[in-house]
Amino acid sequence: MRRVTVKPDFVIAPPAQVSLPIRGSDKRFPVHRVYCIGRNYAAHAVEMGHDPDKEPPFFFQKNPDNLFADPDVFPYPDRSKDVHFEIEMVVALSGGGKDIPGETANELIWGYGVGLDMTRRDLQGEAKKMGRPWEVGKAFEGSAPCTALVPAAEIGHPTEGAIWLTVNGEIRQQGDLNQMIWKTPELIAVLSQYFELKPGDIIMTGTPSGVGAIQRGDVMEGHVDGIGDLKITVR
Ligand code: MN
Repeated sequence: MRRVTVKPDFVIAPPAQVSLPIRGSDKRFPVHRVYCIGRNYAAHAVEMGHDPDKEPPFFFQKNPDNLFADPDVFPYPDRSKDVHFEIEMVVALSGGGKDIPGETANELIWGYGVGLDMTRRDLQGEAKKMGRPWEVGKAFEGSAPCTALVPAAEIGHPTEGAIWLTVNGEIRQQGDLNQMIWKTPELIAVLSQYFELKPGDIIMTGTPSGVGAIQRGDVMEGHVDGIGDLKITVR
């Protein structure tokens, strides 16, 4: 039987496929969705006024095209006077599914990156108080700067190692991946009970304590052992 490919006749130009660069390669990683976990390091849960006991993880989302416009610059967003940094390990999935067992979840990971879950903390705080959704605080343009990805085939699956962030050379956040309350395979397992995960999905795995505000002109430098470094100027 002859197959006929019909090119869809869009009424407007379709949006570009969002993608992340890959370290040492010209190829790119196409992004589907961006999931984030809240309060995944005990000390950060405490600083946000919560009990650090292992409660079930909770998730929120950013938009794929929040990942970045320019990887070296964070545009200070509108409507906020309290914009916070959150350094996080980023996981990129090459596979997906529903009800994924934790034991095999690592097989679905293509690679890792270092990202920032930039947050309009004042707007998020208002939303929390009013019982409203978090998008205005979390899912704005440029809110998820991310480094190039490195393949798990190269670096394995990091479970420990330093994760830190400096602002203008001063250490602000400092933790270790081994402090994650929910480990990466557990995150994938629980997330896949709520959403059917797909190749191209990105997971931001939570931030250690020390989150704080940035100002225009500040330079944020972040690092995760074995994965990479970022350096971003607030414009
Ligand atoms: Mn976060």
